[in-house]
Amino acid sequence: MTALNIVLNAGSSSLKFQVFDAGVEPGTPLCRGLFEGLAGDGTAHFVARDGRGETVGEERWQAAGGGHDEALRRLIAWLRDRFAGASLAGVGHRVVHGGPDFEGPVLVDPGVVDDLERFVALAPLHQPHNLRPIRFALEALPGVRQVASFDTAFHRTQPELAQLFAIPRAMTEQGVRRYGFHGLSYEYIASVMGEYDPALAKGRVVVAHLGNGASACALRGGVSVASTMGFSALDGLMMGTRCGSLDPAVVFYMLREMKLTPDAAEKMLYSQCGLLGVSGLSNDMRTLRAKEAGEPHAREAIALYVYRIVREVGSLAAALGGLDGLIFTAGIGENDAATRAAVLDGLAFLGLRADPDANAAGGPRITGGPGPSAWVIPTNEELVVARHMRALIGNAA
Ligand code: AMP
Repeated sequence: MTALNIVLNAGSSSLKFQVFDAGVEPGTPLCRGLFEGLAGDGTAHFVARDGRGETVGEERWQAAGGGHDEALRRLIAWLRDRFAGASLAGVGHRVVHGGPDFEGPVLVDPGVVDDLERFVALAPLHQPHNLRPIRFALEALPGVRQVASFDTAFHRTQPELAQLFAIPRAMTEQGVRRYGFHGLSYEYIASVMGEYDPALAKGRVVVAHLGNGASACALRGGVSVASTMGFSALDGLMMGTRCGSLDPAVVFYMLREMKLTPDAAEKMLYSQCGLLGVSGLSNDMRTLRAKEAGEPHAREAIALYVYRIVREVGSLAAALGGLDGLIFTAGIGENDAATRAAVLDGLAFLGLRADPDANAAGGPRITGGPGPSAWVIPTNEELVVARHMRALIGNAA
């Protein structure tokens, strides 16, 4: 009898999933899918595709406040139907924050969920959405083992100095420190980059995860030594709707002069800044590329996006004491050749020599000649969670 591992990745209004055969080393999922429109009362949408990309399920319904619980009920019913006769070995969850203590994936019980609730204050816009499916599955699927994989855990190898802010020690001891995020993406890239070039696995590499959320991470020998995201997923690079690095005094200005409440200021920094804020048009790079010729603000938004990447990669190269490789990944990093070309141009001083044809073709190697190399490597965060599940619970149903 086939045993299944389900990987869940819950966002504020969406739920992504992948289903793996628990009996084999995870590779291509048996199916993957997405629930969207879960936050409000509008139309929610579910679509699932098999390993070849064929649509194997699709539904629409009025969300009516049912949110993620309703999505999970539908997912479980759909899976029982599609994989009749199969058993459920485990459910794996992507969880944004594991705090200072969780240095790797864990088997979840109600005590662990209570521990993870403590980090809601550290990631208020992400953590509650990640924990909700865990609580739901603990209740709805008693006896099915669950694994939590953290976006922060991969960075716990960073030297203490890379994790400290220059603030009073008492605040650091309360947990106000640099955690770093996108760790599942970096763990995946670190696990495969040696297949592209063995020198990357041993060398000084910066990985630029450029999606709607964006960050960059310095790896030495495949281990995280520094990253652009810090206490929250707001810091570092400019993103789709998040500001990235900001002088903290801007927040006081927002509170005192603009008379925003802390909640309103936080919401603005998370959801009205970045590409959206600067362009005034869209958070989506494809939309901005389509408009850049006629819209100066779209052009400036993209130029600032690139400028911030160039500066932060330069800073990470300094933390590494040099650069052997640069890897682009996630939606923009994997697909937007113009962003990659502009970043390589800005980093030519590090010895990176763009190969325009290879870049236009999507790589994988997009530089030529001696010196550091640059690459396009697609990320796969769900596969990392599936690997964690196999390591922690094996294939027992
Ligand atoms: P992610 O969060 O990894 O799904 O990445 C989302 C971002 O990738 C959005 O800004 C998209 O516009 C961008 N993106 C996806 N596909 C393309 C593409 N073909 N060209 C340019 N940007 C893309």
